[in-house]
Order: sequence, then structure tokens, then C-alpha cells
Amino acid sequence: MADISILENVPLAGYSTFRCGGPARYFAEPATGDEVARLFRLAGEQNWDVFILGNGSNCLISDEGFDGLVIRIGKNMSELNHEELEDGRVKVIAGAGLPFARFGTYCAELSLTGAEFACGIPGSCGGAVFMNAGAYGGEAKDFITGVSYWDGKDIKHIEGGECDFGYRTSLFEKLNAERKTAVILGFEAVLSKGNKAEIDSAVDDLRCRRTASQPLDVPSAGSTFKRPKGYFAAKLIEEAGLKGFALDDSGAQVSPKHAGFIVNNGGKAKASDVKRLIDYVTEKVYENSGVRLEREVRLVGEFGGK
Ligand SMILES: Cc1cc2nc3c(=O)[nH]c(=O)nc-3n(C[C@H](O)[C@H](O)[C@H](O)COP(=O)(O)OP(=O)(O)OC[C@H]3O[C@@H](n4cnc5c(N)ncnc54)[C@H](O)[C@@H]3O)c2cc1C
Repeated sequence: MADISILENVPLAGYSTFRCGGPARYFAEPATGDEVARLFRLAGEQNWDVFILGNGSNCLISDEGFDGLVIRIGKNMSELNHEELEDGRVKVIAGAGLPFARFGTYCAELSLTGAEFACGIPGSCGGAVFMNAGAYGGEAKDFITGVSYWDGKDIKHIEGGECDFGYRTSLFEKLNAERKTAVILGFEAVLSKGNKAEIDSAVDDLRCRRTASQPLDVPSAGSTFKRPKGYFAAKLIEEAGLKGFALDDSGAQVSPKHAGFIVNNGGKAKASDVKRLIDYVTEKVYENSGVRLEREVRLVGEFGGK
């Protein structure tokens, strides 16, 4: 593997928006699907576990780090192109490592409507497919017409309708839960032309709403919990008296600005502090409301216990 650099003992806190977590034993940033395949082959030969990391904006990485190979799909896989279709719509092709927000602004620059919400989401395009990221009534599934991914043997291309998208889930998230390999390499989206001034104003409006309601200046991974059917996680947490709550002075706190976010004040909390608070909030909300919150944030590495 002379031409793919594999680094050892790479601190991961800087690769997670929570700004905590230990090192990756091995770390690589491939540039192509072929390189992804080669890294998996090597990991198989060496018996390494593999974790696929996007922009780390929905992950809590264990203080022990990840004892295997972290394959980061980032700037080396950030293709961005478009093609006008005969029916007047436009197909946008995005690499999995491209920031999803950049995809959103590119669509806005092209006067394409439907991806305005993407401008405020800090993940990668691959992470957005995996999680079916969404906000303010829009979801990635609304415009994704095709996804290419590596399935452990071949590079496959499937239609958007085959991606089994649901609320913060996709075929890829389900395959991951079954411990099957699926590395998203990129997607195609088809969007219609709209009014540029209206699109720009919608992007600004959503940005302002986010800044006003979310603690964007403090490390976090966005909403800690999924929205339970019929409820809002933040409201349940507030009703349990936990808005602004901290167990100790570790830095982990339920945001005083938005109870749905757990934040890492000053980036000084350990992942275990954040995890303890997540567990505490889950239990207290259950005691108070009978609703069991489900984590949206994904745990990487070993946390012990639940
Ligand atoms: C301030 C803030 C605001 C947020 N607001 C929103 C919001 O409004 N809506 C929303 O939906 N989310 C939001 N999020 C959460 C997060 O940005 C999304 O879930 C995003 O889609 C995650 O993308 P990522 O690249 O950071 O994924 P990561 O955190 O790196 O990974 C998340 C999961 O996806 C998998 N994955 C990532 N890339 C790939 C790939 N190429 N192939 C296969 N698997 C992959 C990882 O293995 C992991 O299991 C917010 C986060 C923050 C910090």
C-alpha cells in the first residue's frame, strides 16, 4: 500500500465536533473507491476492525479511541459537479467527503431549490446519506436519486428509492447495524430551478433560526437524541427539569440554549463524561415522562456498560 498513507496513533478529538475522544490506532484518508477497497483488504489481512468516519458531527468517540483502522472519508473524496437535464432540472454529483453544507450552497448558487436546509448541517455528504440528515422539513432523501457505495466486494450504484431512507436512517445505517460493509462514495441529486432571491433568503433565514436557537459556538454533535414519535426530545428534557443541567464540572452539560443538545464546554469533558450525562438524561426523562429517548449520536469505540 505504498501510495496510501496509513498513520498510526492519530488523535481523533479534532475529527469530532464534540472535541473529545482518544486516538485511532490506524488512520487513512482514501481518495477513491479503489483505495477504500484496498484499505479494507489490508484491514482483513491484519485483522483490524474498521470504522468509517465522515465529518464526525454525529459521533461520540471513546476516550480509549478506536483500536483498529479509521477510514476518514473527507476532502480527498469531495468531487462536486453538475449536469443540466433535458427536462430543465439539474443533476448534482457530490463526493461522500464533500461537506453537505457546501453541496447546499452549490445548489443555491445554481438557483436550485430543495437543498436550502443542507447549508446548516455540519456533516459530510456520506454522513448525510447514512443518517438521512434533515432539518426544517427537508431531508436528504428528498433529492437523492442515486448513491454509489463499496459493499465489501464491489462498487455498486443504487437508485435513491432503493436506499430505504427513513427518519435518521438509511439502508447504509441498517447494513452497519448488521455489521455489513457499506462505504458511501458519493451521491447524485436532482433538483429543480427556483427563484435565486427566494433561495438565498431561505438559506439566510434557516441560518438565523439555527444561530438563534442552537449552541453553535460550543462543541456538540447536534441533537443528542432522535425525535420520539409524537414528542420533541428537547421538550421532554426541559420538562424533566434538565435544561442547562450538568452532573459535575467536567464540561458536559445539557445546553442551556437548546435542551436537545448536550455540549462539551471548553472542549474539556471526556467522552465518558458526555456518555454519563446522556445516560442520566435518558433515565430521568423516562422516569418523568415514560418516554425512552433513543440516541441519535453514534458511539465509536468501547464505552463499557450500556
Ligand atoms: C451543530 C450541529 C447541528 C446539527 N444539525 C443537524 C440537523 O439539523 N439535522 C441533522 O440531520 N443532523 C444534524 N447534525 C448531526 C450531523 O451533522 C448529521 O448527522 C450528519 O449527517 C453527520 O455527518 P458526518 O459526516 O459528520 O457523519 P459522522 O459523524 O462522521 O458519522 C455518522 C455515522 O455515519 C457513518 N458514515 C459517515 N460517512 C460515511 C460514509 N461515507 N460511508 C458510510 N458510513 C458513513 C459513520 O460510520 C457513523 O456511523 C448536527 C450536528 C451538529 C454538530
